[in-house]
Amino acid sequence: MYERHHFIGGKDVEGTSGRFGPIFNPSTGEQAGKVSLAAKSQVEDAIAAADAAFPAWAATSVVKRARVLQNLVHILYREKDALAEALSSEHGKVFSDAQGDVQRGLEVAEFAQGIPHLIKGEFSDNVSTGIDMYSMRKPLGVVAGITPFNFPAMIPLWMSCVAIACGNTYVLKPSEKDPTVPLMLAKCWAEAGLPDGVFNVVNGDKEAVDTVCTDPRVKAVSFVGSTPIAQYVYATATAHGKRCQAMGGAKNHMLIMPDADLDQVADALIGAAYGSAGERCMAISVAVPVGKPTADKLVEMLKPRVEALKIGHSMDMEAEMGPLVTADHLAKVRGYLDLAEQEGATAVVDGRNFEYKMQGFENGYYLGGSLFDNVKPEMRTYKEEIFGPTLQIMRTESFDEAANLPSIHEYGNGTSIYTRDGDTAREYVNRVEVGMVGVNVPIPVPLAFHTFGGWKNSAFGDINQHGMEGVRFYTKTKTVTSRWPTGIRSGAEFVIPTLN
Ligand code: NAD
Repeated sequence: MYERHHFIGGKDVEGTSGRFGPIFNPSTGEQAGKVSLAAKSQVEDAIAAADAAFPAWAATSVVKRARVLQNLVHILYREKDALAEALSSEHGKVFSDAQGDVQRGLEVAEFAQGIPHLIKGEFSDNVSTGIDMYSMRKPLGVVAGITPFNFPAMIPLWMSCVAIACGNTYVLKPSEKDPTVPLMLAKCWAEAGLPDGVFNVVNGDKEAVDTVCTDPRVKAVSFVGSTPIAQYVYATATAHGKRCQAMGGAKNHMLIMPDADLDQVADALIGAAYGSAGERCMAISVAVPVGKPTADKLVEMLKPRVEALKIGHSMDMEAEMGPLVTADHLAKVRGYLDLAEQEGATAVVDGRNFEYKMQGFENGYYLGGSLFDNVKPEMRTYKEEIFGPTLQIMRTESFDEAANLPSIHEYGNGTSIYTRDGDTAREYVNRVEVGMVGVNVPIPVPLAFHTFGGWKNSAFGDINQHGMEGVRFYTKTKTVTSRWPTGIRSGAEFVIPTLN
């Protein structure tokens, strides 16, 4: 049994609270370790370390800050497999998918290397005679990130790379379910030359979250996780005068038009619905075929593919999908599958029957892929996020009926449309009330230089993650009106200055 603690002020620090949470290996179902859950006072130590490091880091030239990011990029490439292995052992996603988790975070570090260009202000020469006006972006101070279990490398890197490149100092409160990778990231930052105290990690639960959301030294909080906690964090942090962006849950629809290439659609759906065992906020969880022939054909094509999913432990290089993250989450997803049946959906493939017999892994949190047909808008299993390896088929008669579904759903994270018709695709892109849209692309996760964020109950606050929106979130603008009067040349002035 290993232990995970905190990283504060450039050092590994043991927890003082005496409280721990379990760390499981989802592939075996065994408890592999325990994580210290920080007391308020220890979170305050991390905030104090970040606060003390802020003036010097903010004053470090932007080019030097960029060089730390450049070093970090090299280190992350070198450590990618080690990070991915640790990640998959605590999360359960298969190794190749865990490499993708690191890669998508690393790409934000690559983006943030460009901070000298990204953070440039504006300058207007001679706005009035002899007067120049310019604006600059200043860091906020101590900023905090609160992250979910499902991307323990990508999401901490999304947030911290942009925040730190902008000159802020950082306190990360990662998910207590997979705390090893965030602590490894702290070591990568330190090796990259980041001064002590600029990047801190405190493991913990509600007590730690409440502390970062209320401490006056923390100027901004970025949260990613489930919607109820996103709402809570947003309300608490903003009530305490902080900037806050809080990303929540999702229910992502894929529209399939009658003219779509159904082979392509079926393959895309298998990856998008069952990859990472459906534990992705951008997973497709609802397929919306338009017209009965499209629906019948799609279900016929999906069934054998879902039945043939290769499920295995996270380091099985042949596996396409690993176990779920915890026994509790497995029970929750199974509960939703039971409910789907009670609600009258048709189980075309029932993942509840799956048994993983490999020796040593019999107790892992495995579930087969499920496919439910005839799902209706009023069902709870449609309205709520399941976050497991199950795909729902919602049959519709027309494009209008199909296009309306994601727009009126409470979540609005991602969606996609498969069609060969540009006009239909264009109409959908413009009409749908969802933040990220794919056209013949199943999981439209924007790259680092664009921004990531959903609409409605998938995100609270109005600024997205990474890209220029990230730079805006982590900086405040100062605008200067500057005049250098002729001074001693013209003598003293006694009249109030006016622009002319
Ligand atoms: P979660 O909400 O349970 O946990 C997220 C963070 O909040 C963790 O750090 C956790 O320790 C903390 N937390 C949990 N309960 C808390 C409480 N009562 N008070 C204060 N803090 C608390 O989410 P999760 O299960 O780790 O992650 C899965 C969820 O995250 C899914 O809903 C998924 O859709 C969502 N997600 C959203 C995005 C997005 O960008 N929209 C990305 C990834 C995941």
